[in-house]
Amino acid sequence: MDIRVLGCYGSQIPGCNTTCFLLNGEILIDAGAITSMLTVDEQVNIRYVLVTHTHLDHVRDIMFLADNICYLQREHPLVVIGTPLTIDTLRTHLFNNIIWPDFSALPDPENPVLRYKTITPREKFSLDGIEITAVPVDHVVETLAYIVEAEENSIIFMGDTGPTEEVWEVARKMKNLKAVFIETSLPDDMRDVADLTGHLTPSSLEMELKKMNTRNPDIYLYHMKLQYHDSIQREIALIRDRNIRILKDNEIIHI
Ligand SMILES: [Zn+2]
Ligand SMILES: [Zn+2]
Repeated sequence: MDIRVLGCYGSQIPGCNTTCFLLNGEILIDAGAITSMLTVDEQVNIRYVLVTHTHLDHVRDIMFLADNICYLQREHPLVVIGTPLTIDTLRTHLFNNIIWPDFSALPDPENPVLRYKTITPREKFSLDGIEITAVPVDHVVETLAYIVEAEENSIIFMGDTGPTEEVWEVARKMKNLKAVFIETSLPDDMRDVADLTGHLTPSSLEMELKKMNTRNPDIYLYHMKLQYHDSIQREIALIRDRNIRILKDNEIIHI
């Protein structure tokens, strides 16, 4: 599986975008940076958006993507996937014909450019041969981690989260877990703020990784708040015996 990092930061400045991973050119995990990163042809190929949670840095480009592809007469709609609460929030607060048009009724209510699919956490579903299971994590709004299984490899995308349990329980039972994409938003001297806002710091990350009971999976870090970039990096470097990589926008990871 090819994972293209369209955005991997917890804040935005030129050249650094918010969370957005593109899997095999057609499945997005979150939508923080689509239309500023992809050509129209690449945007047209996108079939699904898996939404971890409704914070704006994770959903905003669904709006601009829907607008760009609305009148291109694609064969398939863009399917936006999340929990019932997540989908309801997107409909009520973004695609409400006030903030942005309701693209689930455009260009024509019978054949809209965008459809919603609600999922139940812990129930496996399949998208074009890729198996996906959502597991709740701990953030300030309802948030999911997505476990993605393809070609006998599994990857976990953790969403935004503070210290959490259930997804690690699942991870401990997995035999083919190759990679974990996990956030580290703030430096250790802001641990109180991180705990309060449902985020991790390098030391809380280290504690989370211990819950996995294996050192094998590669760890890819994202969602760094850019103003603390240097101190987070220094603190991450102190974590021993883990294959940890801090992601950069526009790199492609092959797993
Ligand atoms: Zn968030
Ligand atoms: Zn976020």
